[in-house]
Amino acid sequence: MDEADLNRDRLALALEAAGLDLWENNLLTGEVSRRAMKTITTLGYPEEEQWTYVEQFFQLIHLDDQPRVQLALDEHLSGRSPQYRAEFRLRAKDGSWLWFANYGKIMDREGSTPGQRFVGVTFNIDDRKRKEDELAQINQQLAEQNALLELLAASDSLTGLANRRRLMELGANECKRTARFSHDLSLLVVDIDFFKNINDAWGHQVGDRVICAVAEACNSRIRVGLDTAARVGGEEFVVLLPETNHTSACAVAESLRQAVASKQVPTNETGVSISFTVSIGVATLQGGAMSFDQLFNNADKALYRAKQSGRNNVQSWDDAPWPV
Ligand code: GH3
Ligand code: MG
Ligand code: MG
Repeated sequence: MDEADLNRDRLALALEAAGLDLWENNLLTGEVSRRAMKTITTLGYPEEEQWTYVEQFFQLIHLDDQPRVQLALDEHLSGRSPQYRAEFRLRAKDGSWLWFANYGKIMDREGSTPGQRFVGVTFNIDDRKRKEDELAQINQQLAEQNALLELLAASDSLTGLANRRRLMELGANECKRTARFSHDLSLLVVDIDFFKNINDAWGHQVGDRVICAVAEACNSRIRVGLDTAARVGGEEFVVLLPETNHTSACAVAESLRQAVASKQVPTNETGVSISFTVSIGVATLQGGAMSFDQLFNNADKALYRAKQSGRNNVQSWDDAPWPV
């Protein structure tokens, strides 16, 4: 046995051990010069079946995968990628689909002229792909479950403030207490000004940072165990102030407005920070009976007026109640 024979044996053994199936195509004629026999038999096709043209193999590729394979081929044939690599499903004789990977390279390229010998290996990656699919499915289920849990839980995951559901519960209870004990109950509705512009200019990540900064300002103004700060929408917050009259509530709102206006949030550009403002609507329930929805509604109307009158300001429903 000469060295060439030995090398051929070594190559055959190495390919076998690695589970690789060697193929070669003639780029000029479109003929298959060496067929990937192991792949053909794995798919259940008889060995003696004619696999003369590359096109016959291409037709076995799943329709959804064909454009990706074609793109990888074009990239290599044109010289834009140094080798051809693709993963795709092949149709087995019994109609089922199996995943394979395919790596190849043109052997006799000269400059930009592709040459004619396209050589590569195919190998079975069905197990790996199925596990990946399973994992993706499990992750998807987990994400859905987390979203559900978050909905059921009391707090907002981005800011850690109470969520809308929790606020509505607490608010309804406070309204009952107010009616029974003739306390005051005040509510601030806080909305970030031109928040859409912040998102558009700096991206959602920076937008989320701004949301957290406003949440922090709301949180630092509450009396622990008595007041509640909640995130009730994308960029909308509520501060619930039991036993707080109208004048005090307006003072809290004004101090919150100023605290937000003096904050700086870093962007993703080194050294560049942004500032931003909020508009706040205030409403107070003085003893009497009113639903929490109604109180919320009043504060919301005051917020609307704050937006109308130039933003970055506090308006109170009780100073100028709108006709119902
Ligand atoms: P205005 O001063 O009138 O309140 O203008 P605005 O741009 O703040 O109001 P608008 O309601 O038009 O836009 C609110 C934007 O908030 C739209 C939405 O893309 C964005 N948003 C909502 N929730 C989130 C969130 O959780 N994170 C981020 N980054 N953006 C959010
Ligand atoms: Mg806004
Ligand atoms: Mg809003």
